[in-house]
Amino acid sequence: MSEKTIPYKIYLDEHEMPKQWYNVRADMKHKPAPLLNPATLKPMTQEELSAVFCTELAKQELDDTTPYIDIPEEIAGFYKMYRPSPLIRAYCLEEKLKTPAHIYYKFEGNNTSGSHKLNSAIAQAYYAKKQGLKGVTTETGAGQWGTALSMACSYFELDCRVYMVKVSYDQKPFRREVMRTYGASVTPSPSETTQVGRRILAEHPGTSGSLGCAISEAVEAASGTEGYRYVLGSVLNQVLLHQSVIGLETKAALLKYGIEPDIIIGCAGGGSNLGGLISPFMGEKLRGEKDYHFIAVEPASCPSFTRGKFAYDFCDTGKVCPLAKMYTLGSSFIPSANHAGGLRYHGMSTALSQLYADGLMEARSVEQTGVFKAAEQFARVEGILPAPESAHAICAAMEEAQKCTQTGEEKTIVFGLTGTGYFDMVAYEKFHNGDMEDYIPTDEDLEPGFSSLPQVE
Ligand SMILES: *Cc1c(COP(=O)(O)O)cnc(C)c1O
Repeated sequence: MSEKTIPYKIYLDEHEMPKQWYNVRADMKHKPAPLLNPATLKPMTQEELSAVFCTELAKQELDDTTPYIDIPEEIAGFYKMYRPSPLIRAYCLEEKLKTPAHIYYKFEGNNTSGSHKLNSAIAQAYYAKKQGLKGVTTETGAGQWGTALSMACSYFELDCRVYMVKVSYDQKPFRREVMRTYGASVTPSPSETTQVGRRILAEHPGTSGSLGCAISEAVEAASGTEGYRYVLGSVLNQVLLHQSVIGLETKAALLKYGIEPDIIIGCAGGGSNLGGLISPFMGEKLRGEKDYHFIAVEPASCPSFTRGKFAYDFCDTGKVCPLAKMYTLGSSFIPSANHAGGLRYHGMSTALSQLYADGLMEARSVEQTGVFKAAEQFARVEGILPAPESAHAICAAMEEAQKCTQTGEEKTIVFGLTGTGYFDMVAYEKFHNGDMEDYIPTDEDLEPGFSSLPQVE
């Protein structure tokens, strides 16, 4: 190995951490389409949104013009407990792949919740506390968001009620216990505790649940309980805003060593880590200052960007939430039962959807056995056991590095390593036992989801 001029890990000092979040919408020529009230089909006003979300968060949700928003001191202080997260040069992976590419990853898994979700959870809990609320409700799928939110709520002494997709509740008892350790109450969804839950159970007895369904329950629980609001861990503009801390830190770390990325890659579920990572770079691209190749990576079994429709859709199964214009598979879409890699939401961030529609980034889908193969290769050389979600980004980064091996190009690739996979060992076990299949939905499989799209415009 030749001598390394760039360290394995680039850290920022505390005083170099971002003091403001960056709102990419401010620099978008085509703003994301507004959320619509499902009853009137008119854009949601701040007042209407404030019935569901904390007032300050409703403001952030609708703010398409302010580029920088101060990070309140209390949140900045909490960030300092587990941030800055390291930007790691994947020297070992580069050597293994024999690639001339330079690969970096921003690792967000160094906190108890095990993912980037804490960046927004702490912000949302802070605003709820500041507003004098008693508590918040939310949904969680794989459990990372519920865990992050329970940590954030215990820090600010807020009550936290989590509706957990039933299949995960049963398969991931340890996640559930982590949440309970932080004082959250966890209910498997669909449940008998809400009207919408009872309705879904009556229509689909024995259903294993979905994120869209848990969202409906959490929203109903919040609107029916005095002093409560609903919070969401992805998809929304406010979440992308909070997650911009990932991209801002990445940019500052690269700048320290004069590194210019060519390709920036993130996995895409609802779009929050990808949006957060690329935001400051996308801002430069939108302002015509720089150019980057952005890649969103999603599972072939839940292909919102690559096979979805760009249309107004419900954000939840129960159709109680506002309509969002996004790439969607339809709110009734549920990925195949053998899909194990997360990223199973039917829709996508409205901001990222608009950027994708405007041709400002690429999206690709990958099959899950390829994802787990990449995860394992990565774990063996870089040491970190990745979350399956994160491994989608690893997979694409390795594809791009291998292209460089063929062409001899020395491209600089940055990807987001969103979290660790300790609670995903059932999925890893399936992979190791050869029980994992690559199920790709046919056009016929996708049709019912598309025909459930509301007729708007
Ligand atoms: C939730 C999650 C994702 C996907 O969510 P986005 O909002 O698309 O970022 C990816 N990786 C991990 C580890 C997660 O917990």
